[in-house]
Amino acid sequence: MTPTPEFSSLSLMADLIAVTCELGYTHLTAIQAKSIPLLLQGKDIIGQSKTGSGKTAAFSLPILEKLDLRDKRVQALILCPTRELCTQVAREIRKLGRRHRGLQVLPLSGGHPIYPQLCALEKGVHIVVGTPGRVLDHLVRKSLDLRTLSTLVLDESDRMLDMGFQDEIEKILKASPITRQTVFFSATFPKSIEKMARTYQKDAIRITIQDENKQAQSDIRQLVFETEPTQKIKALLWLLQQNKPESAIVFCNLKATVSGLTSALSDAGVSASCIHGDLEQSDRDRVMATFRNKSKRVLVATDVAARGIDIENLDIVFNFDFPSKADVYVHRIGRTGRAGKRGLAISLASPREKAKIAAIEKYTGTKIETKAIPSIGQLDVEAAKSSLHPDAAMETLFISGGRKDKMRPGDILGALTGDAGRLKGSDIGKIEIHDRFSYVAISKSISQSALRNLQMGRIKGRKFRVELVK
Ligand code: ADP
Ligand code: MG
Repeated sequence: MTPTPEFSSLSLMADLIAVTCELGYTHLTAIQAKSIPLLLQGKDIIGQSKTGSGKTAAFSLPILEKLDLRDKRVQALILCPTRELCTQVAREIRKLGRRHRGLQVLPLSGGHPIYPQLCALEKGVHIVVGTPGRVLDHLVRKSLDLRTLSTLVLDESDRMLDMGFQDEIEKILKASPITRQTVFFSATFPKSIEKMARTYQKDAIRITIQDENKQAQSDIRQLVFETEPTQKIKALLWLLQQNKPESAIVFCNLKATVSGLTSALSDAGVSASCIHGDLEQSDRDRVMATFRNKSKRVLVATDVAARGIDIENLDIVFNFDFPSKADVYVHRIGRTGRAGKRGLAISLASPREKAKIAAIEKYTGTKIETKAIPSIGQLDVEAAKSSLHPDAAMETLFISGGRKDKMRPGDILGALTGDAGRLKGSDIGKIEIHDRFSYVAISKSISQSALRNLQMGRIKGRKFRVELVK
């Protein structure tokens, strides 16, 4: 990634540059680099970037730059959805404006007594940070006058609309001068915001900073199947049968779910294995080797167990349990999708988990399609079994020699295709050499004869123990 510019590259007054430096901000964030120059030119913008990307400073620095400290009438208004956000934004502005002598920043949110707010407004303030409800309240009381307003910011505008502030916001917009600069910041862009932006902004420039996770997500098809908790295993079997993934991971929220689900899948004829935190390292290695070399199609795991293991490019990521945190969801589904091929993420969720889904759509700014499983009650597990069979195309052989025995893939390949085995190269899959042992994937149809041949023959002129890995 190319580094973003430094604050000193902006045409901001020396005091503001000095403050950013004192605060330890060295480089601009991506949204700041794109939006600050435009805001300084007085342009209307719609800015979209993820939480924590420095949007507050992006709109506050240009406001502070243009502020006339001698004029104690309201020059900038920032609307925020909640009291906490108002406090937070006001604090950040005061911090950035600490070299602006006499700067008055006033939070105006509900839940605070109105009288002190009336007094403060009476004395005069430069910048108001408020919730739409309370700001409108003051407008109606005529305690707040927006006729001198030059900048209006709608921070977290999507959330404000979600919270039902549309009417208040429109009234505030109408009460402010049409010459004002209007700035929207938002994490997502629903139609309602686009409509409002068209109505109340002038030639707005849209700035979207894709975060890396999200960029990947546009290449992932995301589905949710509504399923009652008691029907989830049946539903998963049906989905496996419908989609026939060559390799898929199934995420569970709890370790306790993992082994039961893995047995249920195995009983139904799905080649599945699992990893959980209690496994010995050697068992983990074995499980991972058989999954990577396609001897197992399905890996069942918890987030903790899957952390740090190198499994990517999966056909499907299943959320057997819907995660309650959005970043966990994003991390899970990021493992699907091969180069040039769209990934697929399928989640099971009960109708009561709608709020979690909505929260994730909001966080990622992408849409999750909701689907129904047809007549899940009648799902025939026996039929699913027969159609899942034959399962994985490969089986894995364990060989008791590894790197320490100077074993190389060519040695194993040679033994299998040479006199002992006479296998075709296409019957041999991935070969993994570990320190003291190796794994080789073999086409299931000939794995038994390959096993016998290797057991009887030699590799590098030596005898090794060879076994089929279950
Ligand atoms: P957003 O509104 O995009 O969610 P915030 O404006 O709340 O993000 O900023 C998140 C944090 O990053 C704050 O603590 C802020 O002080 C800090 N911050 C803002 N800009 C920079 C920067 N350029 N370099 C380092 N930290 C920054
Ligand atoms: Mg913010």
